[in-house]
Amino acid sequence: MTQRLNIIGGGMAGCEAAWQAAQLGVPVTIYEMRPKVETFAHQTGDLGEMVCSNSFRSDDDEQNAVGLVHWEMRAAGSLILATADKHRIPAGGALAVDREPYAKSITAAIHAHPLINVTYDEITHLPDEGQWIVATGPLTSGALAEAIQAETGSEALAFFDAIAPIIYADSIDMSRAWMQSRYDKGETEEERTAYLNCPMSKAQYEAFIDALLKAEKTEFKPGETAGYFDGCLPIEVMAERGRETLRFGPMKPVGLCNAHDPENKPYAVVQLRRDNALGTLFNIVGFQTKMKYGAQTRVLRMIPGLEEAEFARLGGIHRNSFINSPTLLTPQMQLKSKPNIRFAGQITGVEGYVESAAMGMVAGRMAAAELSGHTLPPPGPDTGCGALITHITGGAVAKTFQPMNVNFGLFPPIDTVKGGRKRRKERYKAYTDRAKETFSAWLER
Ligand SMILES: Cc1cc2nc3c(=O)[nH]c(=O)nc-3n(C[C@H](O)[C@H](O)[C@H](O)COP(=O)(O)OP(=O)(O)OC[C@H]3O[C@@H](n4cnc5c(N)ncnc54)[C@H](O)[C@@H]3O)c2cc1C
Repeated sequence: MTQRLNIIGGGMAGCEAAWQAAQLGVPVTIYEMRPKVETFAHQTGDLGEMVCSNSFRSDDDEQNAVGLVHWEMRAAGSLILATADKHRIPAGGALAVDREPYAKSITAAIHAHPLINVTYDEITHLPDEGQWIVATGPLTSGALAEAIQAETGSEALAFFDAIAPIIYADSIDMSRAWMQSRYDKGETEEERTAYLNCPMSKAQYEAFIDALLKAEKTEFKPGETAGYFDGCLPIEVMAERGRETLRFGPMKPVGLCNAHDPENKPYAVVQLRRDNALGTLFNIVGFQTKMKYGAQTRVLRMIPGLEEAEFARLGGIHRNSFINSPTLLTPQMQLKSKPNIRFAGQITGVEGYVESAAMGMVAGRMAAAELSGHTLPPPGPDTGCGALITHITGGAVAKTFQPMNVNFGLFPPIDTVKGGRKRRKERYKAYTDRAKETFSAWLER
């Protein structure tokens, strides 16, 4: 008889992983701590509860990376997507659902599956034996978080994300920005030109600070804040402490010479750093922010060189437990130090319901394959699911690793398709066509 798969957490990732493995004939136990142990965000004891918005975002599988992941999950027989389709409510091009019946339906489907058991208990350790998937999400219980820290090291588990906005490289105006590391530091040319710099005059800096101070900010939820100020002040909080604070912090102009205007020293400089190995994404260094999304795009496009910036993801600071997957996980999503344990969902450093469920789908299939005596490789990096796995298990820069939504910046470029804004529609269609072909072949394995 096939060995049992144990899953900790009955949220988006845990339910999807359980469903996929069970559909492949593997018996599964889900351990879910709610309703015995509550979190500050969940309201019920239902499985697959949506903690905030009722939207799975864009359903456009030709022009949107999230929509593409919907397509891949439907193709894989996803429980989360099939249930979303059943409880869909009108929301333009987005896939939004009637929240309560949705979670009740997920719960009923999981309980009705002949190969799935649900045990309503908190798991507080990382087991040495058996096959496990940890899918405990952004609000992993304190006891289990301690066990994960003890296994991986305290630096390897974060309790907050502090996301600086991430920008598509090809939307940056390089006639204004230039590549240079501070004081030209580095052994190689690549290191000496590792940062992308956007210069500001005094007038531009003053206008930027004014806009930052006036911008609308999001508030923290009760119980969410403790500890976040330790290492990551939002830029607007720095600006509130003094108009010059940013110029002596992340926007300091020292050690840099504007390649387009070497005679004039910039008054302030905004630096961006590569966010992935492909070099298609750049994050704005030290620019974590709680500005509302509309305000963020408006204020950040005031930065010279970023007037036309396209954002792969906007900044934010949230309560969020996630591990440093690039250093801890194999491409099979197994913990390197304890390969009987896979991680899936938001705790791996993906962000969002869809991305979390997608990681559950792949982890469930990989675990089922292993229990049946073979190895299932992850989907190719040119698929939505595969691009995410490639990013979290190696493509992302480990030192600055922060949670990531799926976006086309994670996909390997197609040589025959041109970059730039004008060709975007054509490029995205080429990415999604390629992804569907690769993903369909992966499902046949
Ligand atoms: C306040 C807040 C708001 C959010 N808003 C959105 C949003 O609007 N849209 C969006 O796409 N994403 C949002 N997210 C992110 C969202 O939580 C994830 O996208 C998604 O729920 C993650 O799925 P998951 O399966 O990884 O975790 P979850 O869905 O949270 O599931 C994890 C499950 O594990 C259980 N658990 C935890 N520890 C243990 C333990 N030790 N033993 C047993 N069970 C345990 C939890 O009770 C939970 O049911 C938000 C997150 C937070 C914290």
